[in-house]
Amino acid sequence: MSQQGFYAYQAVMMGSPILLKLPQPDEPLARNVFRLIKQQENLLTVNRPLPGAGADRSALSQVMAVNLAAGQHPVQVSQPVFNLIARAHQVSVLAGSAFNFAIGPLVKRWKIGFQGNSVPPQAELDALLQLTDPRQVQLDADARTVYLPLAGMEIDLGAIAKGWIADVVRDYLRQQGVADALINLGGNVQTLGLSAGQPWAIGLKQPFSQQGALLGTLAVSGKSVVTSGVYERYFELDGRRYHHILDPQAGYPLDNELLSVTVISEHSIDGDIWTTLLYGMGVEKALACLKTQPEIEAVFVTRDGEIICSSQRGFGFSLADTN
Ligand code: ADP
Ligand code: MG
Repeated sequence: MSQQGFYAYQAVMMGSPILLKLPQPDEPLARNVFRLIKQQENLLTVNRPLPGAGADRSALSQVMAVNLAAGQHPVQVSQPVFNLIARAHQVSVLAGSAFNFAIGPLVKRWKIGFQGNSVPPQAELDALLQLTDPRQVQLDADARTVYLPLAGMEIDLGAIAKGWIADVVRDYLRQQGVADALINLGGNVQTLGLSAGQPWAIGLKQPFSQQGALLGTLAVSGKSVVTSGVYERYFELDGRRYHHILDPQAGYPLDNELLSVTVISEHSIDGDIWTTLLYGMGVEKALACLKTQPEIEAVFVTRDGEIICSSQRGFGFSLADTN
């Protein structure tokens, strides 16, 4: 399928529509990219049923192997997975961080986006919060091991897996000599070069629009654009909305004036980390914080319908022609 001289390849993986755009038709390359995404997902996922007793444990992801050994023993992982976990650990223990890679027990209990439709009793949430302290996770860089000291602790890399994989795909395409391309992993966009000589145009979605209406368009070249929004996965109960980014302190979905945060950065992993961090800060603190982070830029959409750009060094932004 040709689009402005680009060829689009699509698949559904990790529960998301995946889109790859290449300047020339290249079916084998597209197949390799989708295979690479699958391999990476197989290393990181925590969303697979556990094998029964005596079943083949090699089918587990490396992260699930770590989780299964919680309270028992450290588990060795590959160097790339260790690096990713170490990065996740580092941002999780920052003072006041809304990012917590040890949030697994709460994510599993709420099941938001996976048939979850009720608010767990406070006593249960309180008990699970005891199992989500990221400072308790023990990493040994020399042995490449990860140890969760309490039974029931669980790592969840769901907030950064797509960003990580988007960067892996970008690196692979570069290695293959591809200068211009786009990969969209269901909200994580990573771009190489240009689109027919122009910056890539990435749509900024209007929150809760059924028709996929856009608020505007971001123009980027060789950058990642990541959006995290409260409208992506949620359930409604008694007039309240419960979405899938949890406040690690409260054990409840984060609740503030933001509907979405979009981060423009070189690496998609940074975009993924920063969308969660900034979402937790709220607009005012986030804007102040970004003054000290010239490599990270963001666009915020608030409940009042405001669109706020932290700066516009690395991207162009044009509003859609609507009210
Ligand atoms: P998506 O792009 O799929 O909407 P996000 O990048 O916004 O996902 O991350 C949301 C996912 O991250 C959740 O589904 C859950 O697995 C995990 N998660 C939820 N809350 C947190 C948190 N406070 N810190 C880190 N990960 C979280
Ligand atoms: Mg994310």
